[in-house]
Amino acid sequence: CGIVGYIGTQTATDILVSGLERLEYRGYDSAGVATVLEGKLHCVRAKGKLYNLREKLEREVNPSQIGIGHTRWATHGKPEEHNAHPHRDSQQRVAVVQNGIIENHQELREELIDQGVEFASETDTEVIPHLIAQYLPETPGYDDFLIAVQKTIHRLKGSFAIAVLCADCPDELIVVRNQAPLIIGFGQGEFFCASDVTALVPHTHAVLSMENGEIARLTPLGVEIYDFSLNRLRKLPRTLDWTA
Ligand code: GLU
Repeated sequence: CGIVGYIGTQTATDILVSGLERLEYRGYDSAGVATVLEGKLHCVRAKGKLYNLREKLEREVNPSQIGIGHTRWATHGKPEEHNAHPHRDSQQRVAVVQNGIIENHQELREELIDQGVEFASETDTEVIPHLIAQYLPETPGYDDFLIAVQKTIHRLKGSFAIAVLCADCPDELIVVRNQAPLIIGFGQGEFFCASDVTALVPHTHAVLSMENGEIARLTPLGVEIYDFSLNRLRKLPRTLDWTA
């Protein structure tokens, strides 16, 4: 299973799918990507091999320069297309990919269902976009997306890494690490995240391994790292010594 995220100046889906291919060795049963296109989330998913996803993506033109991608190894919910990530809230404002397990997903799901939320999958992951969407104001200002993600992770128990997109915030990609690996890559006017460096080496050797309990906001201008209380952390990438 794996996560890849991109924000920058190139076509996001190309980078996402080739990054996921480099994470194939980790194993998976389905895959998907989400981008922001003309202010709306655009999500494409497929059961089985990445080839199936690639084929679907090749049928369309998608110039979006921001996106998240995922290969899933099912833990909660069968390996079917409707359980493949990314998962979205009912209004399609927020898209999430996740590796790991949300241990208290059942109780969060029941709470959301009581509030009238309709679920589209059987995954533990889907509670996350619904919660973020609830914490997001109608017209989010600059920090509102970050704050909505922070409030949500305080509700979650388990081991997870997540990457989040918001249709209303097309210049921000937010990623969280909590007991599951996540690396950030620094390019020239472009930034990446991935489950491991293998996915990033074709693009950059400047990387930062996130620590548990960190949130990062990636924008076209740079990367900000915070702890779960949103205190800003000063961290610099290291240069990989990589000969492939
Ligand atoms: N627990 C999540 C699911 O079953 C994520 C699994 C993964 O790490 O790929 O959808």
